[in-house]
Amino acid sequence: MKIVANFKANHTFKSTGEYLEKIEFFLRTHKIDSQIAVFPPFTAFPCKQNSLNVKFGAQNFYPVKSGSITGEIGFEQLNEFGIDSVLIGHSERRMLLKESQDIIANKFNFAKDNNFEIIYCIGEPLEIREDGINSILEYLFSQFYGIDTNYEKLVVAYEPIWAIGTGKSAVTKEIDEVLNALKEKIKTPLLYGGSVNINNVSSIVGLKNCDGVLVGSASLDVDNFCKIIEKIDNIKK
Ligand code: PEP
Repeated sequence: MKIVANFKANHTFKSTGEYLEKIEFFLRTHKIDSQIAVFPPFTAFPCKQNSLNVKFGAQNFYPVKSGSITGEIGFEQLNEFGIDSVLIGHSERRMLLKESQDIIANKFNFAKDNNFEIIYCIGEPLEIREDGINSILEYLFSQFYGIDTNYEKLVVAYEPIWAIGTGKSAVTKEIDEVLNALKEKIKTPLLYGGSVNINNVSSIVGLKNCDGVLVGSASLDVDNFCKIIEKIDNIKK
């Protein structure tokens, strides 16, 4: 199982350091088989030097080695910290930052050419969800435009937009239906994200085609995140 924490614009260098200390202690003192990754803000990348069992990833990057792109970071900056995993296509970037599918595909190709692990997010808005499964799948598959779904370091995260940060997770049956349909087309590991919490995580990761979770709000408190990890690790599939 893969368990990924997306901090977004939460936590600082200092608080990420404290978080890491606690989670590393937890992982040292519990036998956990799952792979744990944290995607902190860039300013917390220096904490990575104290991380043994937690992988670090980047929430964003600009597809250049380096250059005149004000406010962005490129390959050289990620490489300096040994970051080799990136998040692409998150709905907050698609919607708030207006990242088009062309921009996303461009980032994907750059990350692939540089051999990054890519956690690629797809998800439908509420009006598409209400239209039924055929519309949902059509919408989700359109988000694979320009994406090489055979890339061996690709992990797909299904994150219905209406379930992100709302406290309203999709019901297990809805997640199951989508993950099964995705797995028929693409053979990569599949994560679910969208208001995953301590109460719903067991039924979600118990689904046949769920290979892990991407957790936002419920990952911010380290004790809570450790409880989620423990619960997931107890699910034997
Ligand atoms: C996310 O933004 O990727 C996410 C899953 O957030 P939350 O868990 O808060 O819904």
